[in-house]
Amino acid sequence: MPFDYDAIIVGSGAGGGTIAWKLCTAGKRVLLIERGKRFDDPTAFQNEKRMLIDMEAFDDRTFRVNERDTRLYIGGVLGGGTALYGSALLRPSRDDFHPGKFYSKWLEPELWDWPINYDDLEPYYDQVEELLGVTGDVSATMLHIEKPRGDYTSPPPELEPINKKLKRGIEESGFHPFHLPLGIDFNRCLRCPTCPGFYCPNNARASTTDRFIERAIATNNLELRTEFEAERILLDQKGKGRGIRVRSRHQNVVEELTAENYIISAGAIGSPVLLMKSGYEDRSGELGRNYAYHCGALVAGIFREPTGGSERFIKQLGFTDLYFGNNEFPHKLGYVQTLPSPGPLSVQENAPLPIPHSLAKFLNRRMLIISGAVEDLPQQENRVHVDRSGKIHLTHKFHPYDIERSRWYLQQLKRVMKKTGALFTFGATGEKDDRHTAHQTGTVRFGTDPKQAVLDSNCRLHGYENVYVVDGSFTPTSLGVGPALTIMANALRVGEIIATP
Ligand SMILES: Cc1cc2nc3c(=O)[nH]c(=O)nc-3n(C[C@H](O)[C@H](O)[C@H](O)COP(=O)(O)OP(=O)(O)OC[C@H]3O[C@@H](n4cnc5c(N)ncnc54)[C@H](O)[C@@H]3O)c2cc1C
Ligand code: SF4
Repeated sequence: MPFDYDAIIVGSGAGGGTIAWKLCTAGKRVLLIERGKRFDDPTAFQNEKRMLIDMEAFDDRTFRVNERDTRLYIGGVLGGGTALYGSALLRPSRDDFHPGKFYSKWLEPELWDWPINYDDLEPYYDQVEELLGVTGDVSATMLHIEKPRGDYTSPPPELEPINKKLKRGIEESGFHPFHLPLGIDFNRCLRCPTCPGFYCPNNARASTTDRFIERAIATNNLELRTEFEAERILLDQKGKGRGIRVRSRHQNVVEELTAENYIISAGAIGSPVLLMKSGYEDRSGELGRNYAYHCGALVAGIFREPTGGSERFIKQLGFTDLYFGNNEFPHKLGYVQTLPSPGPLSVQENAPLPIPHSLAKFLNRRMLIISGAVEDLPQQENRVHVDRSGKIHLTHKFHPYDIERSRWYLQQLKRVMKKTGALFTFGATGEKDDRHTAHQTGTVRFGTDPKQAVLDSNCRLHGYENVYVVDGSFTPTSLGVGPALTIMANALRVGEIIATP
């Protein structure tokens, strides 16, 4: 029987949107299913209450997280996380692919190395950076992590005055600041103070919607269905996906559709859930486990004068000197980046004590934030599962080693902020935060051994010849940089494998 499509993809985020483009440009007929809507209300795009407090563009489900009901800061509209992300698109370190160098004490020897290494992904990093139009300064010292051998597509804009100060503060701390590689077209960018977590008003920030899905639609090979939810992949006993059941969220109509290949990219929560609901018999025992999303440290410095961060775009700098700690503390950590002031309502919401709006506004105008990521250990107990009613549960607690590293990082970042001239600093590690899970990874990890990993090294479900998973869930460890660039590069790699006869 002929198939309805060559490929059906579930989820339009970093993994799904990217592979859709790859397959469509290779001439495949593709259906892309996204449970979220196309977010098209401009009055909400830059509105703090609607975006960060009411979370209109984030996943609309309430999850049971550590035994309480809550919403999560993960993308829930067309484009997934890339509709809202900060687009800091750093390449990882080569050693990120060899976690055994750092965590041999906690990992089985089979997990000491990813099944692919940096060189396998390098050509795809080049392609993604070009397709997204990543800006950056390739001549800068970016210690420990990789950068393009050629150039970024365009140079970054000049630093804002507060970032010139921060640059000096970082240098005086003995580190090497660089312009963050950003997926932003600065010819179009409006320099909004609010960028990550908000919806970009003019597609200056590279989302999969604008850079991949629209281009895939232009090939006439893509059918896009938003507000459609995949409920189940129909898996047969002979190792094949035979169909997919999808429900229109508007009309509550269910359909079964067929394709030669099924590509799941519903995010590190959505993908294991879909496989569980499909009755996938996982031989590794790892499905839904090893849920990771970076621990880390965040420091807000308060300055005497306004920083400009409540009027202009100030997410510009990063440094990676402490990616692997230092001589005094030789432990793997991750990158550091600046973040914009989130807005007065968020300052109020996150203040340790209730404060009036006027004070929150005052502080927000004088605030500069830097945050450091800490690669968290994959732990079996940290897991996603579904109960009989279909409710999604998440259990997560950072490992004491994650917390120890994050606390150390916090002290280093406070020192940098003081050198930059902050009058005082607030800081927190990520140890108690189970809602800001934007960098979620790990729950459908890949590997060569079916007893240790759910996917093979090509991200194909062990035991199934035509079912793949290409979102952030494939990574065995969470990397020391944001995951988006690596998810997209891997999606191009897997897309090429699927498209090659
Ligand atoms: C505010 C914010 C800032 C961030 N900043 C950065 C950054 O600067 N740098 C960086 O590297 N990363 C950043 N990230 C993280 C990055 O966006 C994610 O790592 C990335 O988008 C994950 O890609 P993914 O394909 O795994 O899943 P997602 O992008 O989350 O996509 C999954 C999609 O699947 C859909 N879906 C789920 N279940 C179903 C179903 N059953 N049927 C149909 N569709 C379904 C979801 O609605 C979603 O659209 C940020 C994220 C957020 C939210
Ligand atoms: S700062 Fe630029 S990239 Fe960010 S939301 Fe505004 S226009 Fe878009």
